[in-house]
Amino acid sequence: MKNIVIIGSTGSIGTSAIEVVKEFPDKFRIIGLSAKTQLEKLRVQGETFRVPFLAVETKESAVWLRSQLSYPAEILVGDEGLVELAQLKEGDVVLIGIAGIKGLIPAYYALKAGKRVALANKESIVSAGELLKEIAREHGGEIIPVDSEHSALFQLLRCDEKKYVKKLILTASGGPFLTWDPKDFDKITPDLALKHPTWQMGPRITIDSATLINKGLEIIEAKILFDFPLEAIEVIIHPQSVVHSLVELEDGTILAHLSLPDMRLPISYALNYPERNTLSLNTLDLTAIGSLNFQKVDWEKFPCLRLAYEVARLGPPYPLILEASDEALVEAFLERKISFREISYYIEKTLNEFKFFTKPEKDLNSYLTLHQEVKTFTKQLIEREKLCGFTS
Ligand code: MG
Repeated sequence: MKNIVIIGSTGSIGTSAIEVVKEFPDKFRIIGLSAKTQLEKLRVQGETFRVPFLAVETKESAVWLRSQLSYPAEILVGDEGLVELAQLKEGDVVLIGIAGIKGLIPAYYALKAGKRVALANKESIVSAGELLKEIAREHGGEIIPVDSEHSALFQLLRCDEKKYVKKLILTASGGPFLTWDPKDFDKITPDLALKHPTWQMGPRITIDSATLINKGLEIIEAKILFDFPLEAIEVIIHPQSVVHSLVELEDGTILAHLSLPDMRLPISYALNYPERNTLSLNTLDLTAIGSLNFQKVDWEKFPCLRLAYEVARLGPPYPLILEASDEALVEAFLERKISFREISYYIEKTLNEFKFFTKPEKDLNSYLTLHQEVKTFTKQLIEREKLCGFTS
């Protein structure tokens, strides 16, 4: 029996994780859950599994939850609550399902406590991957990726020796604007950008998929997780999201990972690894799909992807700066303060103008502080330019 903690249990990853756990009641026990705003959903999850530890963001949320719960659970609050959940003595696997840099905090402390981290939060690995890897090495923690492409690569890399692997190939659906003429990009609203063609996900990653910066973050994620040089990592467009990644071997053989685009699969893999267990899902019917398509990435049309590739080459702390700036810009875009095209404009401007004096090193707070400074810088940049009447 493995004890599971789910950070972000009411979001799209967390909800899928709960479904996975439900299928294996004799294998997994949920001992901790956290949520920020969907308190009623958290209450129901808590009651269903009689979860002993529940974490919420504010004291008010804790008071509400306490008053509604019919069983005695310990209710934890704020970042400290997340740290406590991540380090629960009985915990075996900590799934990080929240979006944004906040995911770094529980990921760091879980690894420090020697846990397995099932990592769906790519912001933490992009911004502080070296720190996470080092802390995992020192304390015997392990990172199993839940991002579908990286779960696929993780599985594919077990098929042959690393010395025979020439290339990692990530697939990208291309997002909702793949076939749009860039001249029409001014017409993109948050509502249109929030409609992803193949995946149901939270707002941040859905917008990131529309600008394709998500795929750029995934290049960085793959580089750090698997220790491959940037030149050995490629991206191709594959609109059906059935092939999740490929590896090219020395002799020209290409191995591909295919499955339904359903996050329950990589979540189940990360929880069960190194075993596999059968989920009650439809199997992938290739004859129903008929054909799979692949095409080259248009780097001009999606400048965010190009910028991410550039920061991957520059190395730390530039990936953190890009990621933090994007976090601020996605918020601004969803609040209709900036246009879709301005996301890449402001990322580039932040990369060019933000000044840092030291690189963060071996200290979680230095990463979090720099991240916050970049976000503030980008927000001020927007305000300044909007005052001057900038339009893209
Ligand atoms: Mg992905």
